[in-house]
Order: sequence, then C-alpha cells, then structure tokens
Amino acid sequence: LTALPKSAALPRGAPDPEQARFRLIKIALGNPHRYGRYRLFTMGLTLAVLLGVPLAGLARVDLWAGAHRMLGEPVELLLGLATVSVAIAAFYGATFLLNMVAGRVFCGFGCPVGQLSRLSDAIDALSRDAAGRRQTWLKLAGFALLLVGATSLWWVGPGVYLAGGLAMLAAWAALGAGVGLALVHARRWRWGFCRKLCPIGLYYSVVQTGGLVRIHYDEKLACTDCKACAGICPVHLDPRHLGQLLDSPGGLAFPGMPAANHCLSCGACVEICEHMTRREPLPAAMGFRSPRQ
Ligand code: SF4
Ligand code: SF4
Ligand code: SF4
Repeated sequence: LTALPKSAALPRGAPDPEQARFRLIKIALGNPHRYGRYRLFTMGLTLAVLLGVPLAGLARVDLWAGAHRMLGEPVELLLGLATVSVAIAAFYGATFLLNMVAGRVFCGFGCPVGQLSRLSDAIDALSRDAAGRRQTWLKLAGFALLLVGATSLWWVGPGVYLAGGLAMLAAWAALGAGVGLALVHARRWRWGFCRKLCPIGLYYSVVQTGGLVRIHYDEKLACTDCKACAGICPVHLDPRHLGQLLDSPGGLAFPGMPAANHCLSCGACVEICEHMTRREPLPAAMGFRSPRQ
C-alpha cells in the first residue's frame, strides 16, 4: 500500500461496487492523510461539547436524582427541560450557521453518526487484516460508548452509574441498548441513513449553501478517469458531476436537487484522487477555489 504506482486504475476484479469501495478505503487507510488529522480534531470538538455541557451543569435534566441544571444552577424540572431544549437547538443552529458559510462540513468532519459509519467502513475494508479489524472494532465500540454515554448525561447525572440498586442497573441497561443501537446503525444502515433519512441531511440537501468548502473538479487537469473518486463516495455521488440534478435519491430526500447538495463534504474523493494520481494540481479538490485558480 505504501508503494502505490504514480497513477493507478480502479482495482480490478471486484465483485460489486461496495467491495470495490472497500478496496479503495483500504488504500486510503494505508496512506494516512491530513483530512484524518483534521477530523480527529473536529470530532474531538463535537464530543467535548456533548460531554462538557451536561458535566459542567450548563444544561441537564436529571431523570434519576432530580438535580436539574441551568448554567450551573439547580432549577426545577420544567426550566431544566427548557434549558436542554435551548441547548440542543443552539447546537443545531450552530451547524446550520456553519452550513451557510462552509457547506456540509459538519457532515464530513463533525457528525458523530457519520463517524460511526466511517469506522464501520474501515472494519469491512480491513477484512483480510485480523489485527487491524480487531483494533477498528474496538475503536467503533469505544466511540459508540463515548457518544451514547455523553448523550445520556444530558438526562441523568453521572452518579447514577455508581448508585447501586435498580437505578444503576436501569442506567447501564439503557447505555448498553444505546450502544447496541449505534452499532446496528454503523453495521447495517450506515450511509443509507445520510442519503435517505437524516433530517439534518434533508435540510442541508434543500438549502445547501456555503462557498468556503466544496468539491471542485476540473476536467482540464490530469484526470486519469480511474473513477476512484466516484467509487469511494459514501453517498454514491460522482464528484466530477456534482452539478447534475438527482431524480430519485430515495427515502425522505427530495428529488430534483443538484448532486452537490447531497455531498457530505467528507473529502474522501479528494483523498483517494491524491493517492491515485500522485501529482499536482489535482483534478478534484476541496476548498473555496477551483484547483486551477
Ligand atoms: S446526513 Fe445526518 S447523519 Fe449523515 S453526516 Fe450529515 S448530519 Fe450526520
Ligand atoms: S462527492 Fe466526495 S466529498 Fe462529497 S460525499 Fe462523495 S466522497 Fe464525500
Ligand atoms: S478526479 Fe481523480 S480520482 Fe477521479 S477519476 Fe479523475 S484522477 Fe481518478
């Protein structure tokens, strides 16, 4: 994997597009990329907000001990509920504002649900590497536990997990069920959820805005037509034709929107293009300017 040819074609002999996609993901996993480092930071930021707000008592409804919080102060249940609702609305509001400026970068770099899918992809891509697969399973389970645990702390205080008795059993059972659901999402629904069901994705696909971060493709540059960029796309787009209207995206998604509106700005296509072509300027690029500018 480290000795890729200067220009490579899409792997041959793959039984179906999904298998071909996993082979491309394996190539990407074997060649660490700057987007992976960016994502480590942005995903850490998302988890820090999810964990930090209830732990600091900025917003919490405590269904177990009644220790509801607003900006660190004890409050009644109704005020606690209102605070949590405002905090959730503010979180989504922040992602929508980000979308206006920079497009769907939250999908590509900040969404923990997308990260579950990404880790699950990596498990399938490493099907012949038992140690790598085990390690990625641990990452997926750990990430799911962190995500569900952080979410639970908006609704119970951390003390319930050590309280003993029925309350503790119920808390751990709910946590286990949540982690199970996250793993089912990762293993079964994965990016299909983004394509067809996610309400935030639905919103983004209708209002897609933002000029700072988007995928550009310039056919005048050295495109080898290897099709790797389309082959690796988690939501089945061809980044070379993002201006085309999508007739039937399926699920809740509205037909007739440009493919660009469904693009998650994940950068996987740009990353694999860099690995396949190994030369500058790249025909595919992510950012606010086209590669020729
Ligand atoms: S479409 Fe929804 S689930 Fe998918 S990455 Fe975007 S916000 Fe996350
Ligand atoms: S077109 Fe590229 S950036 Fe957009 S979703 Fe597909 S792989 Fe990700
Ligand atoms: S844009 Fe890059 S990855 Fe896509 S077909 Fe051209 S060379 Fe291959």
